[in-house]
Amino acid sequence: MEKKADQNRARAEPADAGTPQSLYVHVPFCVRKCGYCDFYSLAGATQDLMRAYVAAVEQEGGALPETPLRTLYVGGGTPTALPPPLLRRLLDGLRRRFTLGRPPATPSVPGGEAPEFTVEANPGVLDDALLDAMQDAGVNRVSLGVQSFHPETLATLGRIHGPDQALRALDLLRRRGTRHVSLDLMFAVPGQTLDQWLSDLRAAVASDVEHMSVYGLAIEPHTPLGRRVAAGDLAPLPDEAYAEMQMATRQALLAAGYEHYELSNFARPGRRCRHNLTYWHNRSYFALGPAATSYVGGLRETRIADVAEYVRRIQAGSSPVAETERLAGERRARETAILGLRLLEGFDVAAFERQTGFAPLHLFAEPIARHRGLGLLEVADGHVRLTPAALPVADSVLADFV
Ligand code: SF4
Repeated sequence: MEKKADQNRARAEPADAGTPQSLYVHVPFCVRKCGYCDFYSLAGATQDLMRAYVAAVEQEGGALPETPLRTLYVGGGTPTALPPPLLRRLLDGLRRRFTLGRPPATPSVPGGEAPEFTVEANPGVLDDALLDAMQDAGVNRVSLGVQSFHPETLATLGRIHGPDQALRALDLLRRRGTRHVSLDLMFAVPGQTLDQWLSDLRAAVASDVEHMSVYGLAIEPHTPLGRRVAAGDLAPLPDEAYAEMQMATRQALLAAGYEHYELSNFARPGRRCRHNLTYWHNRSYFALGPAATSYVGGLRETRIADVAEYVRRIQAGSSPVAETERLAGERRARETAILGLRLLEGFDVAAFERQTGFAPLHLFAEPIARHRGLGLLEVADGHVRLTPAALPVADSVLADFV
């Protein structure tokens, strides 16, 4: 194995050793926990804890190098669960601390001139005061967690908002002139019918957003929704229904003029999420906040998933990192391939070699040959990519690159 890996190694040294140009900030608060959620977030936190969290993020951010960022993404949790003055303080602080630089144009990011500053928002709480805070800090992209326009689906998911609030939030964003809005939508929710899902897609298309992230619900056993399923209170959708909704999504959004650029993501031309492209290209990025993971110099570091402990450690001047993992050599190359294959354009063979030091057509000769034979993978235009036929079974194809 060792020898084979060495033979596969290209002469060039890995080239992705530069300073990160992306930053993720995790806001670990929510108004109420959704039934399906297994992200780290606290519901019902006090304002004192929120204030201490913002101060701790400022302090942690102060230790990062002063580098121009191309993308800044504030997610959660629910950033808009912060009271407006605290969201303002957090965003203004980030804006002051980090310069948002201008990225060069790249073939995969057409028209991507302006730095991207995203904040995730919950339609149940979004209001003018929160939007003022975002606008004044220079936020130019809002990711709205709509999930569905159907009250029954939203109730099953345990969301805090109904369809009317989602429409109101979309209207508010448009009246404000927010030019880049992304919607999160979810299918394969217990009880959801194909007709309901198609009408969710129609409502999303009618809202004319620039971007959509569309996920099939993964039912985690330790969540309230998972326990309801285990108790027989709710039935998960059969695999065929899942696949049908997945294919219907692609058809509907392609027909509406969206590009299907990542397994779960669709964008108007030129509106791909540049921050998430950093992840899919396996480039380095900074991170701040509890439970946030950074990837710098091949080191993946995850901060402690406990707000109070995170604050305590930052105040004490000790590291908030709870888990560290070094990604190097062949392991890093394999991760780069798996992430790159999530993109519908696949990964660029020459760029992969420069980035990882491995020749992908040699390292992955066996899975590439097998999946090409099955019509699930193609090597064309200097790229390795999944074919449309592979989309329903993408996870199992990617597993062969591990
Ligand atoms: S709003 Fe998002 S992070 Fe918060 S509980 Fe719901 S799914 Fe989880």
